[in-house]
Amino acid sequence: MTFEARDLVVRYPGSRAPALDGVELSVPDGLLYAVLGPNGSGKSTLMRALLGVVPPERGSAAVDGRPVADWDRRELARHVGAVPQAEAMPFPVAVRDLVAMGRFPHLGPVRPEGPTDRAAIDDALRRCDVAHLRARSVQTLSGGELQRVRIARALAQQPRALVLDEPTASLDIRHEMAILSLLREAADEGTTVLLITHHLDLAARFADRILLMDCGRAVAEGPPAQVYEAGILEEVYRWPVEVRMDDATGAPRVIPRSAAPAERPAEPRP
Ligand code: ADP
Ligand code: MG
Repeated sequence: MTFEARDLVVRYPGSRAPALDGVELSVPDGLLYAVLGPNGSGKSTLMRALLGVVPPERGSAAVDGRPVADWDRRELARHVGAVPQAEAMPFPVAVRDLVAMGRFPHLGPVRPEGPTDRAAIDDALRRCDVAHLRARSVQTLSGGELQRVRIARALAQQPRALVLDEPTASLDIRHEMAILSLLREAADEGTTVLLITHHLDLAARFADRILLMDCGRAVAEGPPAQVYEAGILEEVYRWPVEVRMDDATGAPRVIPRSAAPAERPAEPRP
């Protein structure tokens, strides 16, 4: 499954500055593609626009070569598993039932859960290490547990693409590594994975390509070793950094330097 954006401009009602300002993007089939950038740089908006949740003011977004607006929502949900950044859990749904909702796009209005559905649900619960929580209400989970349950719901869907907005933001090191390894595995098996993250080092280690966003624009794109240039990162994040190749992982690592206030790059622009 592929994702494409051509000159994508998105402006939220009442905002003067566009949240996306002419983004070009091409996510090929079966890649783990990471989107990075400072807070407010447009990462979540890009995800929404690619999934057709927010309409573009200009330009276009396409999924598998077809304009996203032309997709039937249910059909899109069968193919793309989305884990948005935040989601309210207003009902005391059991973990197992929430994960089972990932199967809904595959079930007709009357078809009950079958063995294939149950196998997909069990597998997803296990891979996200939440099987032991299956009977718990989602409202009683810790932030990290809930995050893993939401990822499990997307996996249960057995989609051809996964789009995840900061999925490991509240996970401990073990669960973060487990989820990233799982996403890497999914990509190696042919699933396209679009991952929004703040974790520069892990993105460099796991992603095939990286898109670096700033102020609604794509400022750099390519393999991690190419995008991770101290100069580019310092300008985008407005903090002095050093980039070092990590021999153990073969991926670049970003080390933020401690800077005296006077040496700090300028504060964010208005
Ligand atoms: P990121 O995910 O990179 O942190 P977002 O895509 O959420 O960035 O936001 C990009 C810009 O759009 C920010 O300036 C943010 O304040 C603004 N924005 C995001 N969502 C909305 C919204 N629903 N209404 C108005 N402005 C929004
Ligand atoms: Mg965001």
